[in-house]
Amino acid sequence: MEVDSMRSIAIDGPSGAGKTTVAKALAERMGYYYVDTGAIYRSVGLYVSRRGSCDDVELVESCLPDIKVDLEYGEDGLQHMILNGEDVTAAIRNNEVSAYASTVSAIPAVRDCLLDMQRELAKEHNVIMDGRDIGTVVLPDADVKIYLTASVEVRAKRRWKELQEKGDTTPLETVMEQIEQRDYADMNREVAPLRQAEDAVVVDTSELNLEESIDAVYQVIREKLGEEEA
Ligand code: C5P
Repeated sequence: MEVDSMRSIAIDGPSGAGKTTVAKALAERMGYYYVDTGAIYRSVGLYVSRRGSCDDVELVESCLPDIKVDLEYGEDGLQHMILNGEDVTAAIRNNEVSAYASTVSAIPAVRDCLLDMQRELAKEHNVIMDGRDIGTVVLPDADVKIYLTASVEVRAKRRWKELQEKGDTTPLETVMEQIEQRDYADMNREVAPLRQAEDAVVVDTSELNLEESIDAVYQVIREKLGEEEA
């Protein structure tokens, strides 16, 4: 396939709106590469947290040359995160790493460092990429842009349920506070803040279950790409 014939679908939105689950399901349905950019920031957060404090900008910047993050796709079709040769796919999925990821992602040098990697993936493959700045910064020319959101209460409850299933007993109120803090940090940072791209279609999943959310996003993609392509 010609490089410029690659399709890209950008899904941005706040934590817990369902981006990852929806994007993963649609990538599978459409035969696209799924790229979870939050997992890339989480991997960087994990690396830095093992070295010291994520709040120390100089320390984070000095770590960057030593960080090699690779995406591998297992036979399961899932994205595995490989941090300097170690599979950290499971290790990056906890509340602590969520906070580290949010902190390091506000550092311009971190974002610069990851930008090319994300763009290269979109050059080589048809991608569904989810994150915070995909439609606004990473892939401003994406074929389809979706801003997936839901009320903070609904998002906190979903995240809380996920944590409970993993045996994490963090109370719902705490999960809600953490989500609010992360929303605030992601929306108010100076570089690449989370915001809706002007040409993005908003899908609010507050009242939708998972299947309905997937269908709603698929509908938008079909309208934009045309039925024969989607
Ligand atoms: O999507 P997820 O919750 O896994 O992302 C973790 C954190 O990584 C976010 O809270 C956000 O701060 C950061 N992130 C980002 N830009 C992206 C994806 C994630 O800043 N494109």
